Amino acid sequence: MLFYESEMHQSVIQRLNLENDLRKAIFNQEFVLYYQPIIALNTLNLLGFEALIRWNHPTKGLIPPDQFIPIAEESGLIISLGHWVLEEACQQLARWQQKYLLAKKIKMSINLSVQQLQDPQLFEKLQQVIKKASIEGKSLVLEITESMLVENIKKTCDLLTQIQSQGISISIDDFGTGYSSLSYLHRLPVNALKIDRSFVSQIQREGETYTIVETIITLSNLLKLDVVAEGIETLQQLTWLRNHQCNFGQGFFFSKPVTSDNAEYFITQNGIVNLN
Ligand code: C2E
Ligand code: MG
Ligand code: MG
Repeated sequence: MLFYESEMHQSVIQRLNLENDLRKAIFNQEFVLYYQPIIALNTLNLLGFEALIRWNHPTKGLIPPDQFIPIAEESGLIISLGHWVLEEACQQLARWQQKYLLAKKIKMSINLSVQQLQDPQLFEKLQQVIKKASIEGKSLVLEITESMLVENIKKTCDLLTQIQSQGISISIDDFGTGYSSLSYLHRLPVNALKIDRSFVSQIQREGETYTIVETIITLSNLLKLDVVAEGIETLQQLTWLRNHQCNFGQGFFFSKPVTSDNAEYFITQNGIVNLN
């Protein structure tokens, strides 16, 4: 019992330390964005990038988002961290647009947390960030998850419609893993569904049926939404997805998330030139 209590005590201390570190890290700007290319599966051209945050910790090295985003969310720090992500991703896109003509056409996808969606200033902040970076709304995609659409659906729909009026697109991330919003999906102001990696990873052989992935693609087509497959790791998966008219995809098969410098390669090549 004593041992258990001291273990609990330790984990509370660890959690508080991490929260403190996180607070300092925001102040010291210890975060970086990595970029994973999103590819049009039929042409292998570049659609754009998903911006994915990492914490460049002074002693622990690069920490993945799963290890600090939940704490940022619980502590409310996600509002300032999320704002930094928005600004940095838009500024990066602006730098690419100044450097490469082709970057005018690409889209930057940014993940939002539920607290950001509930932030009454979100719309204003989006407008400010876009204006400051001198980019167009249509260059931006916001990724939200199904669970964010469950509560207060009317209010959320109104906000998303307002955001879309600026040309910004909305994608539903990790689609199929949350509470499925099938009953009202057709009424939601969204532009694309992202098929969760757990379904894509089931695709092993061509010629087999992978019902969940097929269903999501069919659903997207019926609702006239774009569909993006997440976590494509093999040529088999790519071939199957192409044969089933999945428009877009991302995954280690094309590229892991990379630094902004390395991402430029995909802009200069306009996507993937060599499948190996
Ligand atoms: P997500 O938005 O679903 O992002 C996709 C995750 O899948 C990324 O993990 C990416 O590295 C990983 N991934 C992509 N392709 C493959 C593949 O072929 N195989 C495998 N095994 N993994 C692949 P990452 O970067 O660790 O991000 C994890 C999650 O953290 C994200 O999931 C997202 O929910 C959250 N996240 C990342 N950046 C941000 C951010 O700026 N703000 C917020 N609110 N959340 C973020
Ligand atoms: Mg995402
Ligand atoms: Mg996802």
